[in-house]
Amino acid sequence: MQLNNINYYSDETNKEYLSVSQFKNFYGTLDNNGCEERALAQINGEFLIEPSKSMLQGQYLDACFEGTEDKFKNNNPDLYTLKGELKAEYRQAQSVFERVVQDDLFFKYMDGEKQIIMTANLFGATWKIKMDSYHKDKCIVDLKFIEDIHKKFYSHDLGFVNFIEYWGYDLQLAIYQLVVEKHTGKKLPCYIAVADKKNPPDFEIIQINQYCLDSAIEYYDVENKTKRIIELKKGTIAPSKCGVCEYCREHKVLKNPISSDFLIY
Ligand SMILES: [Zn+2]
Repeated sequence: MQLNNINYYSDETNKEYLSVSQFKNFYGTLDNNGCEERALAQINGEFLIEPSKSMLQGQYLDACFEGTEDKFKNNNPDLYTLKGELKAEYRQAQSVFERVVQDDLFFKYMDGEKQIIMTANLFGATWKIKMDSYHKDKCIVDLKFIEDIHKKFYSHDLGFVNFIEYWGYDLQLAIYQLVVEKHTGKKLPCYIAVADKKNPPDFEIIQINQYCLDSAIEYYDVENKTKRIIELKKGTIAPSKCGVCEYCREHKVLKNPISSDFLIY
């Protein structure tokens, strides 16, 4: 199947290809739980997660940079007033866009080819990626719109970490780098173009160090987990349940009392 911007997120495509967001649905990031059963239900179209306000704000910002606001408006009429104006909670993204494009460096990094799709076989699966700003032979840039660039997150395993590690953006860019390398033979540096929701917004172009990208592949055990996802998708092994996510709670049936020792972990 040839991928394009229309079928990229379809159920059919998600069955055939593996993506970073699918991988995160299966195995989570740092303290954010994944769930094999829920991830499979999502791929099979049996469980839908409505996009959050934060995700939609990010998508709006992507559309601003891509110059596809009209398409965004057609796809998300609920986010606009009857007069056709963007609702107040999304106007913040609009003003952030207007602010960051005035910055020469930010604009330069976001001025690559937009929403470029590539696929490659990694660890036995065909992965699909979509890059926000791709500078051929030079670098890969991903755009993020977050609460606070300098926020410290606490991870049970690693202690205090930054937003890149906490949300698994190191894993995301590491996969992008590997897919591009398979296509072009070139290992490109990876950047995050980030703006935050402070007033006025803070923004940066952040290079993710190569050792962070390499260690993300190791930390998330991508090779073994990918092999497991392939089997889960084929149905040759049964998915495990996390027991606490929305999907697991919806399908919960009690079998035995649990011990109070297992309430927190
Ligand atoms: Zn679950």
